[in-house]
Amino acid sequence: MRHILHICMAVLLSALLSPITHAQTTARWYYEPQYEPPEHQVDMEHMRLTVSFLPEEGLVRGTVTHIFTSLRDRVDTLFLNGPGITILKTLHRGRPLPFLISPEGITLRFPQPLRYGERDSVTLNYEARPRLGIFFVGWNDSTHRSRKQVWTQGQGINNRHWIPCYDEQNDKLTTETIVTFDSQYRVLSNGHMVSKKDNGNGSTTWHYKMTHPHSSYLVMLGIGRYDIETRRSKSGVPLHLWYYPEYADRVEPTYRYSAEAIDFMERETGVSYPWESYAQIPVQDYMHGAMENTTATVFGDFFLVDHRAFLDRNYIGVNVHELAHQWFGDYITGRSGRSSWLHESFATFYPKLFLREIANDDAYQWARKCEQQTALAASEKNLLPILHSGAGSDRVYSKGSAVIDMMRHTFGEDAVRRVVTHYLQTHAYGVVETNDLYQAFQDVLGLSPQRFFEQWIYRGGEPHYLIAYQDVQLPQQGIRQTRVTVRQIHGQDELTKLFAMPVDLEVHYTDGSSDRVRADIERETEEVVVPNAGKRSIAFVLFDPGSWVIKQVTFNRSFAELRAQALNAPLMIDRYDAVHALRSAAIDVKRELLAQVYGRERFHAARGEAVTQLATDPDSRSMEVVRRAMRDTAVEVRTAALAALPVIPPALRDAVEGLLTDSSYAIVASALTKLCEQFPEHRDRYLSLTRNVKGVGNQVCVLWYEMAARGGLRGALDTLVDMAGPAWEFRTRVNAFESLLRLDYLNESLVQHLYDAMAHANGRLRNPATDVTRGFLTHSSHRALFSKGLQDRAWPQWKKDMITPIIQTP
Ligand SMILES: [Zn+2]
Repeated sequence: MRHILHICMAVLLSALLSPITHAQTTARWYYEPQYEPPEHQVDMEHMRLTVSFLPEEGLVRGTVTHIFTSLRDRVDTLFLNGPGITILKTLHRGRPLPFLISPEGITLRFPQPLRYGERDSVTLNYEARPRLGIFFVGWNDSTHRSRKQVWTQGQGINNRHWIPCYDEQNDKLTTETIVTFDSQYRVLSNGHMVSKKDNGNGSTTWHYKMTHPHSSYLVMLGIGRYDIETRRSKSGVPLHLWYYPEYADRVEPTYRYSAEAIDFMERETGVSYPWESYAQIPVQDYMHGAMENTTATVFGDFFLVDHRAFLDRNYIGVNVHELAHQWFGDYITGRSGRSSWLHESFATFYPKLFLREIANDDAYQWARKCEQQTALAASEKNLLPILHSGAGSDRVYSKGSAVIDMMRHTFGEDAVRRVVTHYLQTHAYGVVETNDLYQAFQDVLGLSPQRFFEQWIYRGGEPHYLIAYQDVQLPQQGIRQTRVTVRQIHGQDELTKLFAMPVDLEVHYTDGSSDRVRADIERETEEVVVPNAGKRSIAFVLFDPGSWVIKQVTFNRSFAELRAQALNAPLMIDRYDAVHALRSAAIDVKRELLAQVYGRERFHAARGEAVTQLATDPDSRSMEVVRRAMRDTAVEVRTAALAALPVIPPALRDAVEGLLTDSSYAIVASALTKLCEQFPEHRDRYLSLTRNVKGVGNQVCVLWYEMAARGGLRGALDTLVDMAGPAWEFRTRVNAFESLLRLDYLNESLVQHLYDAMAHANGRLRNPATDVTRGFLTHSSHRALFSKGLQDRAWPQWKKDMITPIIQTP
């Protein structure tokens, strides 16, 4: 789904299908024994963590105390995850405890075995130089231009690299964090702030504490220079919105609707916000979109947007997604990574519903459609179920979210809302699996949603329906009716069977009236009769109006039917579908209709689709629509109009030039590129119109220097090389790398910047830098610079091991 962003971490463990060793059952497709929740001998109850850092060295110094209760009759040892952590001291009942270090962590041996129910504690003093879990940003920038931050990313299983702990989802505990750091910086962690003490030596100690249990992967720290705006939800939840002090003007567009989103989630779930407060903090060089740490969400600072960047990509959807996780993921937590959909599908579903509230139903229909398209595209690769560990993010997020819509469409919105409320309340601060949701249906509605869960969650694939209809007139009996034949024509196997779904059918007549029935479509071929008591002429027929079911449909309709549907279907998404189906129609047949659609649609989707189909038509009437689209109020339509022009026709050059001052940075960037390529003789004028425009990740600024370099501007290449360096955040660096590759410009500094990036913890920097390096290496003349650059670098072996294969691959 493209428009609501949902990029928070998922535990997407890629796994092989379990081998087929027994008679055929459907269960083997989703029963993956290797994903049983891990076993543990004690119940972790509380963790008290005291830490300080030497950020320039990436060093963590910590003391952690675990309080736990034995779950077994005899517990001799305690294993804590902690790969690479150096244990300096242990303390148990006033004495050191013997321990063994393994590559995975620490095994402590108790002097006497613990008995069942016995409560105990252990304290470890340790040091770590982790490469995962905690990140020290900007502390080694010799130019002192980068922000300096420390932040963590615990999900999936990375907090264990800086805290020795039982680091699995299936045991929840209360935590407290005590952090001492340079007083010039602010520190955020989970829970409420117990105290903040100035130590009088330039450092401050911050103490945060959780009063309800959560899972270890949700423990977080965020440290940097920030200001904070505080708001309150209607129910009184304090929201602490962190931002960079120089970006006070970005607080409003970034955090728009933050308090309203809490009101919405409380109303929708029927469960009050489960924690005392909620903070959100942007961080630099973040490798995902955002992460729902309990009471303290971290997000990439590329979402800290101004009013213009807001148009291209804003934080609202991600904001609601992470907020929804405070219930789905934090308050109730899947027992293992296999339960990802119980976190991510719900966290993707609620932002879409919130969109309906703050925008309109059209936006909700469009969001659902985009998710359905994503699910269908995933099925072209394989048909794995949503809850399979190899399902992939397109299913765990988008398909699961669309399945929740279908669930509400099938069982009723209010009914499913009551089920979800019960499911949350029953497992408050606990752990869940898919069957817990299933049982909530039985408890609340007294029904077993067996067929629904089976076909949409435990199995994979989607139906493909072939639709045809007959207008049947039996004048002797005085009957007129529409007989709709529905055939399920998708391939069937163990993963995908026939689907049984209630589907609406709507027959629209030329006089503007309509009839509607809901039919259970179960068998391979079903005939559904829609009575036509008024004996009216059919204008068009809708199968599943509103598009609720994830499906492919083959339904041959005449141009007259598509025209009637494009103009008269009550719901935007059905009108859009008709416009989209016109792609194969001849331009002379559809030109007038598309112009009409452009003129009357209020939501951007059909307008954008109409313009896309008209953009390559040289007819002046079509060009006029495209020209109007370049001034459209919706950024999506202006984007579509520009993207649909492979070549700018001379008659539209002035219209495209007008986009150089568009409010959207992405449109400015695209227009600048296209215009400079096609009309290089006007380059100076284009550059003067876009001077000093930056954009997210300096997208416009980097292009500006690229175009200026092509025009021979002195110093432009050096500026781009600098922007590729570690003084800048990763998006600017990636833009600069890609620009320099297009310019085929490489020097020693750039090689070093590429090496730095290729060994970076952030894959969204590392991977593009690797691709750009490979791009440079296709020219053998660049190879010597890379080889020399590697020799010069004093790097630890693991970094050399990462880089060497890339530059040695021919
Ligand atoms: Zn998420």
